[in-house]
Amino acid sequence: MVKIHQLPDILANKIAAGEVVERPASVVKELLENSIDANSTSIKVELTEAGLTEIKVTDNGEGMVYEDCKRAFLRHATSKIKYDADLFHIHSLGFRGEALASIAAVSKLTIMTSIGNEAGTKLSLEAGKIVEESKSPARQGTEITVRELFYNTPARLKYMKTIHTELGHITDLINRYALAHPAIRFEIIHNGKQIFMTPGNDNRLQVIRQIYGMQIAQSMLPIEASSLDFHIEGFVAKPSQTRANRNFITLIVNGRYIKSPALTHAIVRAYDTLLMIHRYPIVVLSITLDPILIDVNVHPTKLEVRFSKEKELIALIEQTIRDTFKQINLIPHAAFKERMDRPKPVQDTFTFKQEQQEEKREENKQENSNLFIEPFEKQETITETVREPESVAINQEVSEQATPNVWHQEESVQTNDVESRVPPLYPIGQLHGTYILAQNELGFYMIDQHAAQERIKYEYYKVKLGQVQNDVQHLLLPLMFEFTTEELLFIEQHKQELQEAGLFLEPFGDNTYAVRAHPNWFPSGEEEMIIRDMVEQIIQEGSINVGQIREEVAILMSCKKSIKANHYVTEDDMVRLLEDLRQTNDPFTCPHGRPVIVHLSNYDIEKMFKRIQ
Ligand code: ADP
Ligand code: MG
Repeated sequence: MVKIHQLPDILANKIAAGEVVERPASVVKELLENSIDANSTSIKVELTEAGLTEIKVTDNGEGMVYEDCKRAFLRHATSKIKYDADLFHIHSLGFRGEALASIAAVSKLTIMTSIGNEAGTKLSLEAGKIVEESKSPARQGTEITVRELFYNTPARLKYMKTIHTELGHITDLINRYALAHPAIRFEIIHNGKQIFMTPGNDNRLQVIRQIYGMQIAQSMLPIEASSLDFHIEGFVAKPSQTRANRNFITLIVNGRYIKSPALTHAIVRAYDTLLMIHRYPIVVLSITLDPILIDVNVHPTKLEVRFSKEKELIALIEQTIRDTFKQINLIPHAAFKERMDRPKPVQDTFTFKQEQQEEKREENKQENSNLFIEPFEKQETITETVREPESVAINQEVSEQATPNVWHQEESVQTNDVESRVPPLYPIGQLHGTYILAQNELGFYMIDQHAAQERIKYEYYKVKLGQVQNDVQHLLLPLMFEFTTEELLFIEQHKQELQEAGLFLEPFGDNTYAVRAHPNWFPSGEEEMIIRDMVEQIIQEGSINVGQIREEVAILMSCKKSIKANHYVTEDDMVRLLEDLRQTNDPFTCPHGRPVIVHLSNYDIEKMFKRIQ
């Protein structure tokens, strides 16, 4: 008996839809890509209930004639490739010819399209079948409305998360496409309210400002470079602006937003020591290359791609970013420089607002200065900075990380008796303004002064941050923060958790929030970073781990307030530093896990000079 039959198209489309149409954001992605491929200069996305009820995408692109419009919903129907060889020269975002068929298979869809000079076509489809056909106005462009997504695939519908999560995915996606195509005007309307808009004037920095806010836009440095095969351009944020994850790196290849761990890694590596551990930069990088060098047909959603000359591309990206930072003086006095070399603002009204906020922030800082007794804040010299931790109790739970080549590490883990671990050290001098050389009856020591101070400060801050309760500090003048639309959605959704963590964010319009109260333990000057970290934690993990944030802040503070390399210190400074280091719970590694002390015993030295065998 014959058992095998070919599936009807409608069923095949429904199956294919499982791959392409995962959630409302995937529908938006496919419709956006089609509008961009149709050379639109303006694309409007209207959503009801994060697209679960309705998604409408309206463009002013080329439109379609009647026959094409009908064909567009057939499986593997595309105007973008014709022959085998075309697959290696993809200039468009789409080419598989399955998006419209797939979307139509799992929704109720209406399309109105016209090439402009004659009445257009209106088609209504249900579960992939045309159920109505009529003429539409002669407005050039295409409007596609997708209603009741997944109404006939209830299992998929069950996977949908909250409205906020789905809307977050959509706004993130549109943000990336707006960054990729600054010449196109993008607009998002959710439940009748405009939540995002770009001017479409081919100014990428302005799109960055629209998404990330003025402060980040002002910290952006332009980059541009070419090699034989690649052209790259975009913006990299100064290392003073960082985030706790890689989501603020946008990679664009030939106008397509892609994800590439290898390229992302190259970008982070290019920042090198300018970034602290677990901090990531904000970057928008647009790459142009001959389509023959890239395979976009790796994954149905085309989010992942394969490069033929990836190594060269990585080298070009890394070198360009490194060169950019070499040209500007980032350290020291980053905060002061920031004000001086701020790029010319794009629009005066925004500058004014920004400056007002900055002034308020300054006032606030002064207002808050009695919040914390901050002995390290204004004093840069090692003398003052090291004195404070003497009163700090020894903390038991400091991390025990791998420490190659350090002195007597095994003992250090087992005992907390400071005297028995590190006998007093006597400074002999300083090497290259970076290492302190010291001796005692056991031999010779080299101490990385920055790492040593980080360890001292880290333990100090860890105790200090650990002691304060979640008391809330009310501010007379609010601090102002700009957030992306995606962040905004999560803030609204998790207001309760944020408040429980002591953070009160109050909507201030224009993607801005006012903070009128925050927990007492926020070190002054670090409020913005901590608040952003909390919001990012909510987005990534759905909850706030205050303990983890405190730990991160302790590491950050220790690093910020420590002397860097190439800093000459007096003998008194050295004596104090060595003594404070001895008092720490774990003098052998800095909070980032790097070694602090290297030791050569008397025996090692005598052996080196062959005084003993
Ligand atoms: P693909 O984009 O891979 O070609 P789709 O199923 O997404 O496949 O679209 C099928 C075809 O419909 C496209 O090749 C294009 O010719 C046409 N089309 C789709 N959307 C639009 C639009 N917004 N404007 C003009 N033509 C469109
Ligand atoms: Mg397409």
